[in-house]
Amino acid sequence: MASESRRPPVVGLLALQGDFAEHAVALAAHGLPTREVRRSADLAGLGGLVLPGGESTTMLRLLDVEGLWGPLGAALRSGMPVFATCAGLILLAQRVESPAQRSYGLLPVTVVRNGYGRQYHSGTFALESAVLPRGTSGTFIRAPRITHVGPGCEVLARRGSDPVLVRAGPVLGACFHPELQERHPVVAMFAADVCAHGSAQPAEAG
Ligand code: GLN
Repeated sequence: MASESRRPPVVGLLALQGDFAEHAVALAAHGLPTREVRRSADLAGLGGLVLPGGESTTMLRLLDVEGLWGPLGAALRSGMPVFATCAGLILLAQRVESPAQRSYGLLPVTVVRNGYGRQYHSGTFALESAVLPRGTSGTFIRAPRITHVGPGCEVLARRGSDPVLVRAGPVLGACFHPELQERHPVVAMFAADVCAHGSAQPAEAG
């Protein structure tokens, strides 16, 4: 055999609360191994990070309880690909409303929590996008609504006129849950980011 083959990068899943298990299944379909992140030691050597959907207020509380707020922030800012869905997107937004709460501020957007109404308004809706295949839809569950997009943030898909998939550098944020639909193209987009980032890194010794 010529050169040793690279192992695929490991993607960390913030696993304090929410639908991180569904993200593991969705990424496995793209050949990417995952690791549940509950303590700062779990952040070592990752090639990507997922902030799942769930309840952002509970996640904030658990990040403090586990002493993870600071270490996770450093990992999020390290330049590795990050994929944030729903509550995860709320944690990364620059500004959170209804009610206001603390956030990492890595995505230059304003979000209104539960901005499409509560459970009653949850469901699967068509997306309009120049970068996703025609007919792609998104599953929204008590989703945040993006009401403002700042400079440096690209809108990749909309639901009606609302931005619902955004990118700022290595951070991809979705108001919906691509991980709940089989082989969703947005999961493929993140998996491609992780692989591209991984192959740009120096090969691991040993
Ligand atoms: N409504 C939740 C919040 O405000 C997000 C819902 C979700 O992640 N599906 O944190």
